[in-house]
Amino acid sequence: MKLDDIRAAEAHLLVRTYDRTPICFVGGEGVHLFDENGNAYLDLLSGIGVNALGYGHPAVQVAIDEQSRKSMHISNLFYHPGQAELALRLTVMTGLDRAFFCNSGTEAWEAALKLARAYATLRRSEGHRLGTKILALEHGFHGRSMGAVSTTHKLKYREPFEPLVPGVEFVRFDDVADLEAKFSSEVCAVCVEAVQGEGGVHPVSKEFFAAARRLTGETGALLLADEIQCGLGRTGEWCAYQHYGILPDVTTLAKPLGGGIPIGAMLCTEEAARAFTPGMHGTTFGGGPLACAVAIAVIDTMRRDNLLDNIRKMGKYFLAQLQSLAASHAVITDVRGRGLMLGIELSNAELAKHVAAQMMERHILINRTSETVLRFLPPYIIERHHIDLAIQALDDILTNFPVAVSPAAAQGARA
Ligand SMILES: *Cc1c(COP(=O)(O)O)cnc(C)c1O
Repeated sequence: MKLDDIRAAEAHLLVRTYDRTPICFVGGEGVHLFDENGNAYLDLLSGIGVNALGYGHPAVQVAIDEQSRKSMHISNLFYHPGQAELALRLTVMTGLDRAFFCNSGTEAWEAALKLARAYATLRRSEGHRLGTKILALEHGFHGRSMGAVSTTHKLKYREPFEPLVPGVEFVRFDDVADLEAKFSSEVCAVCVEAVQGEGGVHPVSKEFFAAARRLTGETGALLLADEIQCGLGRTGEWCAYQHYGILPDVTTLAKPLGGGIPIGAMLCTEEAARAFTPGMHGTTFGGGPLACAVAIAVIDTMRRDNLLDNIRKMGKYFLAQLQSLAASHAVITDVRGRGLMLGIELSNAELAKHVAAQMMERHILINRTSETVLRFLPPYIIERHHIDLAIQALDDILTNFPVAVSPAAAQGARA
């Protein structure tokens, strides 16, 4: 099927959950995707931060090939070598003690929330005071299941599905006073993304993250760090919280972990892990041999090729280029991010939409989040000349854009 037929078929066959850009991709190699007409697109989005090693990476191909000949699924009723070998790597990288494997980011976050509630139940049974309330951040995103979406801030994602999981309260982003006011021994968990992704590429402040760590530490509540988008090297450290010198009680990984194969992981301290006993939580597919083998290959390739170093270098270069672009285009009102998780804020939503569309015309994939933010999540293997190409295109588009995108159309994204 070609694009027009696919579109016509999907229009009456699929549930209307997605608003797709009308391009049909049929293959990829390195940092490029190919459409059905053979056009190459420079991918600065990596399938929303997933394709960390780009497309067709030999290490991923070999892992899939070899493991698919052995076994792809066993179930969690028996042992296979993959989970222990992957957990060995992830516990070292995160500084946490134990892992639970599942199939997506949402599921990893769901496990984290359930662990927090179960841990509070356990602590109460041991005579401690710990409530059931969960504090999440405004503009935070943690997924779409009933639990995860209850901690996701955007009204559009939550309201139609009410009643949601009770006991969630939102704290103003980076507002330490608001956090202190809402925190008490009634709280069992505080949820933080070190860098908010869907919320518009906003790194949390050192003061706020430290306050969240201090307050939870005082009562025994759990600090949950969602690293699904900002983790696994994306910001130049294995975990974005490592830039802050903070160790959470629980973290979640997913997007880039499987290099394109679905896998999620929840990691936690020995202390928090006491809350789960056999039978309390589980999944049929989670931590299957194929997903584990590929995740191990992704991590070992990142280590072997020193990709954290490339992320830091390319991230620094990309950021500097975006900053100099901002110096010559007043419509860029902010440049943010760390490593290869970068965003630029434009003065209004219409302009941001236009720039993203024009980049697509020029066969460069980026996306717009939070209305006014252009987000860059390139593969970890990106090189300097790819960044130069993107900067040149952005410069061109902004230079040639009719100045007449009226300030009246401007919308404050985080109002
Ligand atoms: C994408 C994302 C999720 C949800 O992950 P899925 O794999 O889409 O279920 C959760 N938290 C953050 C921070 C994310 O970026």
